Amino acid sequence: LSQLFRPLDLLGMVYRTIRQGVIDMGAMFDLIDTPSEVVDAPGALPLDVSRGHVRFEDVRFGYDPGMPILKGIDLDIPAGTTLAVVGPSGAGKSTLARLLYRFYDLTGGRITVDGQDIAEVTQASLRSAIGIVPQDTVLFNDTIGYNIGYGREGAGQDEIENAARGAAIAGFIERQPQGYDTRVGERGLKLSGGEKQRVAIARTLLKNPPVLILDEATSALDSRTEGEILDTLQAIERGRTTIVIAHRLSTVVHADEIVVLEAGQVVERGSHAALLRKDGLYAEMWNRQAQERAEESVAAE
Ligand code: ADP
Ligand code: MG
Repeated sequence: LSQLFRPLDLLGMVYRTIRQGVIDMGAMFDLIDTPSEVVDAPGALPLDVSRGHVRFEDVRFGYDPGMPILKGIDLDIPAGTTLAVVGPSGAGKSTLARLLYRFYDLTGGRITVDGQDIAEVTQASLRSAIGIVPQDTVLFNDTIGYNIGYGREGAGQDEIENAARGAAIAGFIERQPQGYDTRVGERGLKLSGGEKQRVAIARTLLKNPPVLILDEATSALDSRTEGEILDTLQAIERGRTTIVIAHRLSTVVHADEIVVLEAGQVVERGSHAALLRKDGLYAEMWNRQAQERAEESVAAE
């Protein structure tokens, strides 16, 4: 799970190190705030998740203090519902996910889960409550069973097989001569993009988090494979509070609420039908993508 963030972490570290060098100078001119590492608040208690109601209240953030990326975001995601976040690349969609996972602290506002400020609970408890399916899943050079079991430490073989069934990849695994002991990765069996995403889904099922983030989970797949995986994803969204981040709008039609993010601000929000009626940015994106889909299917004939 942490792979999604690892390169970013590393970037952040490099960035902080560089910035630290600037601080010594900056302190003199009082230009830059002291960088704050994300740490548990003194006496932080574990997050007590009852249902998984997530709220963003006037959330402000920039990777660089002088460059705001999110400029006052309000989101209310009632327990068990699905919120979709769409918008152009660079709008700040993945940043929302990173902040909910508390990879960075906010510069303003707050994020709560069941009424508890995420900055005031232990990071370990927060992160165990959140599952993330990223765009590209990184597999370990190990067995496929290990790669699924990684979703939760100490998972038994039967639990791993259950998760694989839920992610609709059990049949594929059972057809391999070595089954769950089949090695995958660079020197093992090469999995397709769709199979890798199913491994990520199985990991998430094993983790069984009340809060789920799908960050462009199907955007690296061709549209046929995407269609096959969408059913599985919608099945795992059931009963969880879900944030779906997507570029392709056909994947968010079912969401309870859709927000359109542009340059760090919510510019439109509503259901798919309401947004189409509004005839604004969402409708424009929808019509453009519908046309692309039509052209694709003509080209395929
Ligand atoms: P989206 O997911 O909507 O494409 P992101 O949330 O990834 O957008 O990025 C929003 C903005 O923040 C972009 O301008 C991006 O360049 C910038 N950004 C993302 N990650 C970092 C980082 N680790 N350090 C500095 N800037 C970043
Ligand atoms: Mg993104």
